[in-house]
Amino acid sequence: MAHASWDESHSRRVHAMTRLEAILLMGFGGLWCVALLMVDRPLLAGINLALAIFGACLLVLLRRGRLRLATILAVHVAPFAMASCLFDNPPLGVPKATVLFFLPIAAGSYFAFRRDNLYLRIVLPALYLLAFIAFSLLPLAISDPALIVPAEAAHVAAWVNTVSALAALVFTLGLMHADLTDRRGWEYDLGRAIARGEFRLAYQPQVDRIGRLVGAEALLRWHSPRRGNVPPGQFIPLAEETGQIVAIGDWVLRAACAQLARWNTQPATAHLTLSVNISVAQFLQPDFVPNVTDIVTRSGCDVSHLKLELTESMLVENMPDMAERMQALCDIGLVWALDDLGAGYSSLQALGQFPFAQIKLDQSFVRGLPADESSLRIVEAMISLADTLSLTSVAEGVETEEQFRCLMEAGCEAFQGYLFGRPMDIDSFDALIAPAPDAMAGSADGGGTPHER
Ligand code: C2E
Ligand code: MG
Ligand code: MG
Repeated sequence: MAHASWDESHSRRVHAMTRLEAILLMGFGGLWCVALLMVDRPLLAGINLALAIFGACLLVLLRRGRLRLATILAVHVAPFAMASCLFDNPPLGVPKATVLFFLPIAAGSYFAFRRDNLYLRIVLPALYLLAFIAFSLLPLAISDPALIVPAEAAHVAAWVNTVSALAALVFTLGLMHADLTDRRGWEYDLGRAIARGEFRLAYQPQVDRIGRLVGAEALLRWHSPRRGNVPPGQFIPLAEETGQIVAIGDWVLRAACAQLARWNTQPATAHLTLSVNISVAQFLQPDFVPNVTDIVTRSGCDVSHLKLELTESMLVENMPDMAERMQALCDIGLVWALDDLGAGYSSLQALGQFPFAQIKLDQSFVRGLPADESSLRIVEAMISLADTLSLTSVAEGVETEEQFRCLMEAGCEAFQGYLFGRPMDIDSFDALIAPAPDAMAGSADGGGTPHER
């Protein structure tokens, strides 16, 4: 069985951190509420009760599996934290301690949202640090004796708050350290996977409207001796973040071109096309165009049968010379396909600005067919848009006969999905072309046979 991915481990740590915050808020909020009621400070008791309720809500959300929402709420505890700081006006000789809670919240926010938008990752932690400085150094406190913590409680509060804030900070830093160590381990293994021959390509069949095999998509597989079979969804995002995707992508392209060149030489396979996924980081390399040209030329494959897939999210990035780069590779005969169309937020207008020859409808729409009316309308609109722009359309994730029929009626031209075959090793794929009596069964991810209709 595969080990937990780095992302899963990270989520577990964020969960632990948010749970600790929820428990601290509930525990201390509840206790202080009672204590402050006893010394006749109802407003302060109310603030602490609100904190305890907030903590309880976080726990409920965590129990219901709403980790992201719980964590976003947890790092927006600012109004309560500010209010607590304003009323934290201890007598001379007793330090202000509530302010210390800004530190674990700042560190936690940065840690939990390391891949998120600028606001959650940078702005929010920075605001907490500024609040820490402001409340530590400026006389930002309410001095009305009726509203501040009484002197006898202030001593206890200073101890409790200092110890628990620093414990929370140490806990958060410990999680961050464990996360970093984990990530280094993944990076290390990934960095050696090419040299150790741990990658291989799986081939998923693509068929035309009458079920004939017309090509395949090359999908990367990593078998790590330490971690087992790691799906691309787990290691490709990390490889993209670390830049390792450039070397991995080169390996994929070389292996795919070598396979295409082999198919080109056999009459039974000479017509097959091969699609290869390209990451943003790869595409952004300054030498992307000459590098691809070099790999393709050296392999000796028929370049017109090679399709490079870019995902829709790349259109949103609005790269200045994207169309020029794509055109340069079209000029050597290569074909571009737009993967996962409909999954992102690109304006479909943008499609016409780039030299795509094919669109791939995202699985999420195909999944809803034929029952889901809105998926059907979207699929029909995308296919008709492809027609208008003279692009071919491929549907991904076709699993049932009903979906296939529905997509045919909508005018889709090619199909890929478990109905026609799972991603499989090259021997199983070759067996689809020249089926031997005993060669139909085995495959890497499950196997399957394109339908002849
Ligand atoms: P993708 O390019 O959209 O590939 C299609 C994914 O859908 C594949 O997942 C495939 O196994 C899966 N799939 C195909 N038919 C069906 C079906 O009928 N039902 C369901 N539920 N799934 C189906 P896989 O192999 O896990 O790859 C996931 C993603 O990882 C790919 O999505 C692609 O974005 C990325 N990827 C895979 N190989 C490479 C690679 O060599 N380079 C880069 N940059 N990305 C890759
Ligand atoms: Mg793809
Ligand atoms: Mg796709």
